[in-house]
Amino acid sequence: MSLPSHIDVAIIGAGAAGLGAAHALHGSGFSPLILEARDRIGGRSQTASLPNNVIFDVGCGWLHSADKNPFVAIADRLGFAINKHRPPWQQQTFDAGFPRAEREEFIAAMNDFFERAEDAADEGPDRPANELLIPGNRWNAQIDAVSTYINGCELDQVSIHDMAAYEDTEINWRVAKGYGALIAAYGAACNIALNTCVTLIDHSGPRVVLHTSRGTLTADKVIVTVSTDLMAQEKTHFTPALPDKVNAAAGLPLGLADKVMLALATPDDLPEDGNLRGRSGTAKTGAYHLRPQGMACIEGYFGGSFARELEDAGEGALAQAAIDEIAGLLGNDFRRKLTPLASSRWAHDEFALGSYSHALPGHAQDRAVLAAPVDGRLFFAGEATSPNFFSTAHGALESGFRATKEAMSAIA
Ligand SMILES: Cc1cc2nc3c(=O)[nH]c(=O)nc-3n(C[C@H](O)[C@H](O)[C@H](O)COP(=O)(O)OP(=O)(O)OC[C@H]3O[C@@H](n4cnc5c(N)ncnc54)[C@H](O)[C@@H]3O)c2cc1C
Repeated sequence: MSLPSHIDVAIIGAGAAGLGAAHALHGSGFSPLILEARDRIGGRSQTASLPNNVIFDVGCGWLHSADKNPFVAIADRLGFAINKHRPPWQQQTFDAGFPRAEREEFIAAMNDFFERAEDAADEGPDRPANELLIPGNRWNAQIDAVSTYINGCELDQVSIHDMAAYEDTEINWRVAKGYGALIAAYGAACNIALNTCVTLIDHSGPRVVLHTSRGTLTADKVIVTVSTDLMAQEKTHFTPALPDKVNAAAGLPLGLADKVMLALATPDDLPEDGNLRGRSGTAKTGAYHLRPQGMACIEGYFGGSFARELEDAGEGALAQAAIDEIAGLLGNDFRRKLTPLASSRWAHDEFALGSYSHALPGHAQDRAVLAAPVDGRLFFAGEATSPNFFSTAHGALESGFRATKEAMSAIA
C-alpha cells in the first residue's frame, strides 16, 4: 500500500499491543494505520508450519493466566481451538536424571524461594531477587535456570518488586494451531503498512511528523509499541528527545528466551506432552517439551546468558545443545532420532532485540513511566508497559486497549 500524507491515529508496530490498539479504535470514527517495520504482522508472536505437520510457536506459545486472558475469547470468536491440557513443566519423563524425591525437594525449595521473595517485596525496599536465595542451597542453580525461562535472565538482574507485581493465575492453555497464528488472524482485518520502519517521531510542531523508511507522513496521535531495547537504544528517535522514556526503557531490558524444534523419528518412544529438565547444578540448561500436542517433535527452551551464548555461537548451536542434553538423559540413540527443524534468534532480531522485559532491581516503577502519555499526543503500549501482565502477549494486548482509551479521552 502507498502511505497517506496524513492520518488521525498512527500506531507503530503490529504486535499484540499495536493490533489491540487498532481493534479498540474500531467504530470510533477514527481510521488508524499501523506502521510495521517487518514484512509480517505479529512481532514477537509467530507460528511457523514445519515439515511433518509440526507447528512451531517461535515466540509466545502459552495463553498464560488463561482465565483472565482476552485472547481466549478472541480465539473462540475466530474459531481457533484451545488445548486445555495442563503444561508438563513439573514432570520429568521416565524420571530421567531427576528422580521423583529430588524433584519434590527442588519444587519445594523453588516455591519457598518465590514466597520469600514476595514477602520481602511486601515488607521492604526493592532488591535483586538472588538475595532471597538461601546461600549454599543445592537447588539455587536450578531455581536460577527457571528464572532464565520466566524472566529471560538470571535472578541477580530481577527486581523483587516487579516479580511480585506479576499476576499469574497458573492456568496455562495453548492455541492448537499456534498462538502466533491466532494473533496473525486477529490482525488480518487491521489497516497495516508493512515494511515501514519509523525512524523519527518529530512532535515539535502542531502535527506529529513521522519519518519512515517509505517516506514522511503526519499524524494527530501516535501510539508507540516498540520493544524496550529498541526504545533504550533510540532506534526510533523523538524530537524533542524524551529522556524519561529512554531511561525507563533501559530499566526494563528484554531478557532472552530462545526455542529450538527437533523432529523426532520415533514418536512412540516418548509420551505425548512429556517433559525433561536438563542438567541440575547449573543455570545453563534447557527445558524440553516432549511431543507437544502429540506432534512428532521435541521443543527445547533456553533462557538468560546460556541462550545468549548459544545464539552468539551461531546457526545450529541451540539444536546441538538440546540434542546433547536429551541424549545425556535418554541415551545416545536419540542423537540419530532427532533432526533440527527450526530455532529462534530473538536477540539478533533487529525489530525486537530480545524476548520479553523484566525490571532491573530498583526499576519496577519504570513500567508506569514508560506507559505515561506525552502532551496528549504520544501514547505508549507494549508488553513492558503492562502493570501486572508484562512479558506476555495478553499484557501487550491489554496495553494496546489502554493506550487507545487514553488517546480517545485526549480527543474528547
Ligand atoms: C521465545 C518467546 C517465548 C514467549 N512465550 C510467551 C508465552 O508463552 N506466553 C505469552 O503470553 N508471551 C510469551 N512471550 C512474550 C510475547 O511474545 C510478547 O510479550 C508479546 O508478543 C509482545 O508484544 P508487543 O506488541 O508488546 O511487542 P512486539 O510483538 O515486539 O511488537 C512490536 C512491533 O513493532 C515493530 N517495530 C519495531 N520497531 C519498529 C519501527 N521502528 N517502526 C515500525 N515498526 C517497528 C516490530 O517489528 C513488532 O512487530 C514469548 C516471547 C518469546 C520471544
